Amino acid sequence: MSVVIPLAEPPARADRARREQLKLAKRLRHQVGRAIADFGMIEDGDKVMVCLSGGKDSYTLLDILLQLQKKAPVRFSITAVNLDQKQPGFPEHVLPDYLRSTGVDFHVIEQDTYSVVARVVPEGKTMCSLCSRLRRGALYTYAARNGFTKIALGHHRDDLVATFFLNLFFHAKLSGMPPKLLSDDGRHVVIRPLAYVREEDIAVYAEARRFPIIPCNLCGSQENLQRKQVKRMLEAWEKESPGRIETIARALGDIRPSQLSDPALFDFLALGARGGGAPPDAHAWLAGAPPDDAPDDATRLDD
Ligand code: SF4
Repeated sequence: MSVVIPLAEPPARADRARREQLKLAKRLRHQVGRAIADFGMIEDGDKVMVCLSGGKDSYTLLDILLQLQKKAPVRFSITAVNLDQKQPGFPEHVLPDYLRSTGVDFHVIEQDTYSVVARVVPEGKTMCSLCSRLRRGALYTYAARNGFTKIALGHHRDDLVATFFLNLFFHAKLSGMPPKLLSDDGRHVVIRPLAYVREEDIAVYAEARRFPIIPCNLCGSQENLQRKQVKRMLEAWEKESPGRIETIARALGDIRPSQLSDPALFDFLALGARGGGAPPDAHAWLAGAPPDDAPDDATRLDD
């Protein structure tokens, strides 16, 4: 009988993999550090609550922030917070076990938002949007009660770009997911330190670090169709022209209001105005009404 002895990875290949991993970790620290500095995300004395879902993005966010914290120019605390939404099959021991192994301060909020979503959303419809809203509410409430000054979320560069296109295509708005934002009620500052990080890099990093990933679709819900469509479009673009997503992401940080068409953002009325006249009136333009002091036929275009 022959015995198969598993071959150890050749030392040269293992070394190369290790070097690649270190290089990637350095790049991620650099990109996260740059985003923190560019947007003033973390200040001295901040209490940062890192929202941890169990997905690759939030694990990576926590891991990189913990690395940066050791050498940061300011002092800030980190607490990892997970919301156990009581989805069927959620392995509730996985996150606490992992977090204990890192030594980070952490808390698990238990709130059965799953039952609410399952009761309210009609069968066959996607539950993600209501689920996320309830999750956000529970996390923000916890942050307010516990005096956290910043709420850190794991959205990355590709999420920012996808949200921009979702708003553009389906809501006729040029707006996206900002790296830093004040919540609608003005009580929370939300930060997205992975704003410059590619999803692909996060996936490689999460695999190399062997984070114990908990899939978000345990509940069986599908993400919404529009988001799927946008993702497919972006993937196809990237395949056709590598680097396109990065170009779009850079464009989101280089906006020229005078080259767009929003009079609320840029004062087109004042541009080149000779002054003196009354503000233009669209009704008067449509009706072809002459100015009060014009001779009777002075504005008739068909003469
Ligand atoms: S997949 Fe399930 S748990 Fe994840 S956001 Fe959607 S509804 Fe919520």
